[in-house]
Amino acid sequence: MKRYSLKYEITVVGAGPAGLAAAITAARMGKRVLLVEKNGFLGGNMTLGLPLLGFLDENGKRCIAGFGEELVTRLKETGSSYDHRFCPKHNSVTNINAEDVKILAIEMCREAGVDVLLHLEVSGVELTHGKIKKATFYGKCNELTVESDIFIDATGDGDLAYLAGCSYDKGRGERNELMPPTVMFTIQGVDDTKLFDYVAAHPGEMRAACSTIDTKPGYDADYFRSDPNYVFVGMTELFTRLKKEGKCPVDRGNMIIINGLHKGEMYVNTSRLLHTDATDILSLSAAELEGHMQVKALLKTFREYVPGFENAYVSSIAPNLGVRESRRFKGIRTVTGEEALMGLIPDDTICLSGYKIDIHKDSETATLFKTVERPFGVPYGSLVSAEIDNLMFAGRCISVDEDVIGSVRVMPCCMAMGQAAAVGAVLAHNGGVSVAEVDVSEVREELLKNNAMLSQD
Ligand SMILES: Cc1cc2nc3c(=O)[nH]c(=O)nc-3n(C[C@H](O)[C@H](O)[C@H](O)COP(=O)(O)OP(=O)(O)OC[C@H]3O[C@@H](n4cnc5c(N)ncnc54)[C@H](O)[C@@H]3O)c2cc1C
Repeated sequence: MKRYSLKYEITVVGAGPAGLAAAITAARMGKRVLLVEKNGFLGGNMTLGLPLLGFLDENGKRCIAGFGEELVTRLKETGSSYDHRFCPKHNSVTNINAEDVKILAIEMCREAGVDVLLHLEVSGVELTHGKIKKATFYGKCNELTVESDIFIDATGDGDLAYLAGCSYDKGRGERNELMPPTVMFTIQGVDDTKLFDYVAAHPGEMRAACSTIDTKPGYDADYFRSDPNYVFVGMTELFTRLKKEGKCPVDRGNMIIINGLHKGEMYVNTSRLLHTDATDILSLSAAELEGHMQVKALLKTFREYVPGFENAYVSSIAPNLGVRESRRFKGIRTVTGEEALMGLIPDDTICLSGYKIDIHKDSETATLFKTVERPFGVPYGSLVSAEIDNLMFAGRCISVDEDVIGSVRVMPCCMAMGQAAAVGAVLAHNGGVSVAEVDVSEVREELLKNNAMLSQD
């Protein structure tokens, strides 16, 4: 085995929305930063074809800016994103080109001076005196040991924190039910004019497939026709009928498609892998295999039954299963559903979350929605490990309860958390203190200087 030993001031593990924001922010603040990623590309779930949800709140008011806004601005410069658009169902949508994110992410890392290493998965952690001294990574018969003053876990699943023995929660209810993952795929050759002519004539197809959805009026054919920046959730009557007839290939009551940046291109978010635990390799592997089979079956269903999809074909399948949920780690502060629904903005808020609580149930077709009437604050403490002095979380592994994860998991919020975790880490490093001891008012000051939103005033 080939072995390498490296030393950094700040090491970020995982290069999804949270990790990218964290690594780039910390490097811009002058730190020697390493970003380690298990895939052969950067971007995490931003490369699956998903829209960025949550820049605007329930009332169409902005609640996220900072790093996420900068990324969207850069994408827009190359025609790789539409702008933010109010959506009666999702608050707002910001559709992006999945492939272009991969390139922009590298450019931004290079500009900031982040050292990036790919194809490396964290495999071990060495602890001394309540701190992570070293993390070990494995890839292609190479072992890399990284000594770092501060680590930021942005792996989504919190793999680094897990290996460090940190406490966590997973799922909800007696079965620790987790939201089911999805294999995303891209199709071309769709005629959306035909789809929306059909939907206009059959408004029942836009009926919500679950009882808790709080869609505002206007989520209809005219909305989709007026702007290509849309996410379509519909064909409920069709999917309900197909289910009754035993012809529906997935456990869903509708289809979700995200319009791409090119004519006829759509990202499909309709597969559903029930009873999956993405932190268990046997479960993960089985879901990935079954998800690919669902792609084939869904394409057949679309071509046969959905107007406008007769000539659709699959142009790509996402390189890995999209995981909605796994571990939530114990921070010095845990945000609860009550606080979120009250719109509580604590003094140590480091970003806002205005996206609804959106929980895909691990049972047949259900999705549970709770409206977040006004954005709530994500406190600094929810990014800080309660157990390890030099460990921060960013992204969907932060310290929140089983409800709040349904809101903060959206990608703009993950970028905002990544940006804030980096600022906390840098200030801790500058001051020679633990990440928990940082003066949060200084973190907030630095975030505001960099266009982050800490309130809507
Ligand atoms: C099917 C699906 C639909 C969704 N829909 C939307 C949507 O429409 N809009 C929206 O905004 N959000 C959506 N989300 C939520 C959102 O995509 C995620 O919650 C968000 O991407 C989490 O960001 P993250 O940076 O924490 O993790 P990720 O985006 O998962 O990034 C984690 C990164 O860490 C890397 N990594 C993981 N483990 C290791 C390891 N052990 N070692 C090294 N690297 C590692 C991964 O390869 C990845 O690059 C959806 C999620 C899914 C799965």
